[in-house]
Amino acid sequence: MSALAREPVPDASLEARLHARIARDGPLTVEDFMQACLSDEAAGVYASRQPIGGKGDFITSPEISQIFGELVGLWAVAVWQSMGEPSRVTIAELGPGRGTLTADASRTWRGVPKFLDSVSVALIETSPVMFEAQRRTLKDSGAPLRWYAALDAVPEGPLIVIANEFVDALPVRQFIRRGEAWRERLIASDGKGGFAFTDSEAQDEDRRLPQTALDDVILETRPAAQALMRELGRRAEHAPLAALIIDYGHAESGFGDTLQAVRGHRFADVLANPGAADLSAHVDFADLKRAAVAAGLNAHGPMPQGEFLLKLGLAARRERLLQRATPTQAEAIASGAARLVDPRQMGVLFKALALASAGLPPPPPFGHQHFALS
Ligand code: SAH
Repeated sequence: MSALAREPVPDASLEARLHARIARDGPLTVEDFMQACLSDEAAGVYASRQPIGGKGDFITSPEISQIFGELVGLWAVAVWQSMGEPSRVTIAELGPGRGTLTADASRTWRGVPKFLDSVSVALIETSPVMFEAQRRTLKDSGAPLRWYAALDAVPEGPLIVIANEFVDALPVRQFIRRGEAWRERLIASDGKGGFAFTDSEAQDEDRRLPQTALDDVILETRPAAQALMRELGRRAEHAPLAALIIDYGHAESGFGDTLQAVRGHRFADVLANPGAADLSAHVDFADLKRAAVAAGLNAHGPMPQGEFLLKLGLAARRERLLQRATPTQAEAIASGAARLVDPRQMGVLFKALALASAGLPPPPPFGHQHFALS
């Protein structure tokens, strides 16, 4: 067999397979690299293991405090009411992780029997490992559950979409300003067994990219997030729709490289050990909002997570939980709630963006309605 015909063996490491791919097809886009690191069936962060929680790579709001999922659950009920209480409504959670948010939300739905009779939950998940974790967490949730690989497979009808720390995991493309043009930032083999950034040879002609920038500045775009906004807009033309997108990121568009790797709760090298660290990038909320509005949706926010949760009634819920808690539980409840809203922790870097179809009032807490379900 000639050396040319050699294909990597199927169980080769992701690193070896990416080097082989680069040797065959040329450098990868950041988008392709991120997609492979997160979703590769054999070695991707989500596809091959469960990275969320104390023993994993990172922790998310629903895993920090049950109050998060409970408030989001009540938010969904209020939005359903603002839709005129349709007798069928789908709550679609994008990237449900361990299923904790929906488990906490569904506990609050038990207090609203008419809602519980109307709701079905669609869990949008691509990873078989995460699916298994969700199935375990949600086995007693009391709401009908169905899993889908993508939102576009969910049947049409009144829809409430929830996405916590989902958009930050959608792959980004990066461009770098060289003189008067943008070039795409690519990932090549460095010749020493690792990976290195390089520029595309061709200039990028995308007229939507800003036409001026300082030399060597980096700009990120997120095609999958843009596609998601278009899909939400399309669905809103046929039935009432609202969406709640919570993530970490910036309220104003800007330049800069925000791609980051986190492994075992510490920052790691983005290019080292593909699949070993979680990769994500800051959400550009201004860009997301522009895409949502262009798709025909009303957009509200982004509002800092701390303000959002406090306005939904976090303090009252914390007090209710504290009344029934042992001293050890009380400490965990108080510190968890503080971590979600403290501006030095998740209170400001994390933000909430609410989207609604044209006929609907602004979802709480963006409108003037009183939010009193808690
Ligand atoms: N929302 C959860 C988990 C966030 S981690 C929480 O707050 O704890 C991101 C989740 O999105 C994981 O469940 C991951 O498997 C899933 N995911 C990542 N990319 C996806 C995609 N393109 N489609 C569907 N799910 C995806």
